[in-house]
Amino acid sequence: MQDTPPSVPDFTQWPSFPFEGHLRVKQLDDLVPVEPPRRGEGNRECTACNAPDEAYIWVGERWRVRAMDRPTGLPMVLILESRSHLDLGDLPNLLAAELGVMTVRLERAIRSLDGVARVHVNRWGDGSAHLHIWFLARPSGRLQLRGTFLSLWDSILPPISEAQWRENLAMVAAWLAEFGGRPLAEPPRIQWQAPSRLSAVTAADAVAGEEEAVSVVEAAEEIPEPESGTDEQPESGSEERPGSEGDEEPGSGSEEKSESGSRLS
Ligand SMILES: [Zn+2]
Repeated sequence: MQDTPPSVPDFTQWPSFPFEGHLRVKQLDDLVPVEPPRRGEGNRECTACNAPDEAYIWVGERWRVRAMDRPTGLPMVLILESRSHLDLGDLPNLLAAELGVMTVRLERAIRSLDGVARVHVNRWGDGSAHLHIWFLARPSGRLQLRGTFLSLWDSILPPISEAQWRENLAMVAAWLAEFGGRPLAEPPRIQWQAPSRLSAVTAADAVAGEEEAVSVVEAAEEIPEPESGTDEQPESGSEERPGSEGDEEPGSGSEEKSESGSRLS
């Protein structure tokens, strides 16, 4: 057991720090000699490998993008996942290169949404062994949310409206689909039709054995639970043709699409 410093660090006084009042630093737990397996490690099932494409807002041959299962405080929180069960440092060169392309593409798509000033890209990986990269959008004009505490604010701010959330998801999905792959998020249609594609998928996804995280902070929190099962390795397919030519309306279907980059720059 180690003692932590009695005083809290300066960042608790920063405008971006979400809390005020008396704070105390927690005692550190004892070191564990062997770390427990993450999801998708050891005998633990992999949520990502078990999830059907319909649980995502966009899918390509080697990458998938998913959202939380409901709106959160930030205008957009998305996760980019490889299809293959690999962690960041294990990516072969092709996927490593594509990760760069996908990261840039997704950042630009999210930053193009109304009311988004910045997109923060994060990778933690303490909960799941399957590569997943977080994209967190900071609302425009919310200077207090600048910086590293944005992931906390996501759970603190009131959730954005469901309609706005779905519209944002559909826009990002359509944007990505212009380079290939399939957009699966659709814009909101009739307000009173409560059961949606995404919530239906969430129910199906839960069958896979793991509850999807509803926020970046909750996802990073690992709660041990007894499990059994095996990983499924999804097959890898053909080339996704990033950046190829063509034009198409967003969300108009599931066929392969591509687009010239004119309005994407
Ligand atoms: Zn996996």
